[in-house]
Parts: sequence; structure tokens; C-alpha cells
Amino acid sequence: MKESYDVLVVGGGPGGALAAKAAAEAGLSVLLVEKRPAIGAPVRCAEGIGKGALAEFIEADPKWISTDIERAVLVGPDGTRFTIDGEAAGGKVGYVLDRKMFDRELVWRAAEAGAEIQVHARASAPIMIDGKLQGAVIHQHGKTYEVRAKVVIAADGVESKFAKWAGIDTTVPLWELETCAQYLVNDIDIDPKANVFYVSNEACPWGYIWIFPKGPRCANIGIGIAGTKSGEGHRAKDYLDRFMAKEFPNAKITEIMVGGVSVCKPLECTIADNLLIVGDAARISDPITGGGIYNAMYTGDLAGKTAATAIKSGDTSKKALMVYDKTWRNGPVGTTLSRNYAVKESFIKMDDKKLNSIVHSMSDLKIDDLSVRKLVLAIFKANPWLALELPHLL
Ligand code: FAD
Repeated sequence: MKESYDVLVVGGGPGGALAAKAAAEAGLSVLLVEKRPAIGAPVRCAEGIGKGALAEFIEADPKWISTDIERAVLVGPDGTRFTIDGEAAGGKVGYVLDRKMFDRELVWRAAEAGAEIQVHARASAPIMIDGKLQGAVIHQHGKTYEVRAKVVIAADGVESKFAKWAGIDTTVPLWELETCAQYLVNDIDIDPKANVFYVSNEACPWGYIWIFPKGPRCANIGIGIAGTKSGEGHRAKDYLDRFMAKEFPNAKITEIMVGGVSVCKPLECTIADNLLIVGDAARISDPITGGGIYNAMYTGDLAGKTAATAIKSGDTSKKALMVYDKTWRNGPVGTTLSRNYAVKESFIKMDDKKLNSIVHSMSDLKIDDLSVRKLVLAIFKANPWLALELPHLL
């Protein structure tokens, strides 16, 4: 580890990897530090991603794809099912990744572009001089290093501390922090080409249960519920155990994982002097699905490029970095986040009767060329009361 770099990236998830790669490709000296001893492990993710989203950044490779998903199935509280078939939805659906391998591939690509990678290296404090960020204190193998950088990219995930240390309020209200539990389950009968989502305020309050296939008889089965809905006897794991006992009583659980997902609004500002915040650290996972891999890659890449432009111009002030915040916020990512936040706010208030009514109206649909717009219109037609709850979707 050297004493100074152009860019210091804190965190080796998809956001950090894409940021380090973009900055290194622009010719900057880059250090990426990851506190865990191995990139990509342990996995804290259901590993689903859309094909179109992934293709924006990397060509799909069987090395890190577990399953090719052809359809999505929504199951209502009373068991009514609605299937969106890939062909009807325009041919593209998604993948279930092998994130241990996927995250490694992304970091390897950053390394190939010229970034230095240090694992088991934890950023523990920012270096602030005259109130401005100038780098970070890094601990590795019992030693402490002071690493200076012209720009720091905070890509330290949902547990992010870096931006907070630099003076930015990153608090996630408990009711907007989904507490999640997931099992990797073997020897079960599933549709290996379908991602299945169960909605029910009784079975998974303010969240949902997912089955994402990892192989013909193997899947990530998990749940997310609002932090405020969790308590003794009704934690996410308790709900998941009830679901497993009902749906897959003989399943063999070979891995258990717990984690948190923020479903709040993004940070009010994702930059400061010499600082860019990306991915989950910026609170930009999708408020409905909790999905954040694509948004982390998108903001990571944009942050790396923005840092390069700013450093080359000799101005890394908040004003110069503002273009990053404006670009993602005013583009498709920011627009989708605002719309989905409003939808989420409405959906969490719906009881199972209303959720059943929505899924029933969807299951009655006979649409060959299914678009989101047509789907939304058909649901509103069958459930006129929705127009009062979600007027902005019309
Ligand atoms: P992360 O991937 O969290 O990476 C941050 C990294 O920073 C970590 O490796 C961490 O160890 C490191 N770090 C933290 N602090 C420091 C420090 N001080 N110093 C050095 N390193 C540090 N998203 C989807 O798109 N699809 C899904 O199916 C999906 N399922 C999910 C299921 C669950 C249960 C959970 C919890 C999340 C899920 N997500 C899903 C969300 C997805 O995992 C995240 O949005 C994504 O990983 C965000 O990437 P990131 O790079 O911002 O952060």
C-alpha cells in the first residue's frame, strides 16, 4: 500500500469494483480496500438481476451465472398466481448470479485495468484536513496506514459508515430497513426457470418472500420484513420458518444468511468535497424489490468517471462533483427510485384483501404482448380504488 493515490475506493462490492475500474481505465492511480478477507464472500444477496441491466456493464458468462430465468411469478395472499412470461415481456428476463464468482470477476477487471486491490483492509476513519476529506486510515493485518487520496469513493454498502464519518447523515429509519433472512435450500420441487415472489401482509409484513432458483432442485429462499415489524417470535427468520414448514417441509438447508436492505429515499446529497457515495451506501437500492446490484454498478461506474474528470481538471470540490449527483438523480435510476418509493409507500399499507384483489385482476389478464404500461392500466381498470392511492402511476 502506498501513501497516496488519486482515488481511494472503500468497499469491494459491485459499486466499488465498477468505480475502481472506471477510474483506473481513465489513467488514475486507484486503491480499492475491502474489509473482508475475500471478495464476494459471504454472499448477502438473493442474486437476481435483469438481463438488460447486466448487459449494460458486462457480457454474461456461465462462470458466474447460476440460472437463466425465463419468467416471474407473483403469488397473492390466497395463493392466486400471476406469471409474467419472458417472451411476452419482450424476450428479456434475468439471471440468478453466483455472486461469490461475480463480485470477484468485477474486482479482477478493476485490477486488470490497473487498480490496486487490498483485502482484509478496513477503512476506520477519514483523514480530514481543514474540514475537507483527504483520505482514510486503513487497518490491515495488525498495521495502520494513513492513505491520502484526491477523491474517496464510499462504496461500503448498507452498513456504510464512511459518508457518516465525513459528516453526511446516512440514517435509515427502522421502518425503512428491511430485515432479511435467506436459506440456500436443496432437494426441493421448483420451477427452475421462474423467480417466484409471495406478497402478503400477514405472512411477510411490509415485504415479500422470494424463491430464486440456483439449480434444478436448489434455490435461494428468503424473506424481507420491515424492521419495525420484527420482534421476539416474529423475526424475519420466524416468518421464513413458517413458510418453509408449509411449502417445503422436507427441504435441506445448506446455508443461512441474514442481512439488511434499505428501502428509504436516497441520501439527499451523494457527494461532498473530495467524496462520492455509491450503491447501497447512497441508499439507492430499489424501494419495492430491494434490488441494488445494478444501481451500485451504475453509480460506481459514474462515480469513477466523474472522479477522473474532476481530478484531471484540478477541482475535486463539492461543486465540481455535483454533476455525479445530478446525473444519476435526474436519469432513469433516479426517476425509477422516486416512482417505486411512492408505490412502495402505498403497497405496504394494503391489507391482504386488497393485495388479493390486485393479484386476481392480474391473473385474469390475457395479454400477449405484455408491457408494464398495459399491465398497470389493466390493474387500475380492475381496481378503481387504486387511482386514489397511486394517482402518480396513471
Ligand atoms: P456491497 O455489495 O454491500 O459491498 C460493500 C462492501 O464494502 C462489502 O464487501 C463490505 O465488506 C465492504 N466494506 C464495508 N465497510 C468497509 C470498510 N470500512 N472498509 C473496507 N470495506 C468495507 N440486489 C439485487 O440486485 N438482487 C437481489 O436479488 C438482491 N437480493 C438481496 C437479498 C438480501 C437478503 C440482501 C441483504 C440484499 C439483496 N440485494 C439484492 C441487494 C444487493 O446485495 C446490494 O444492493 C448490492 O450488493 C450493493 O452493492 P454495493 O457495492 O453498494 O455494496
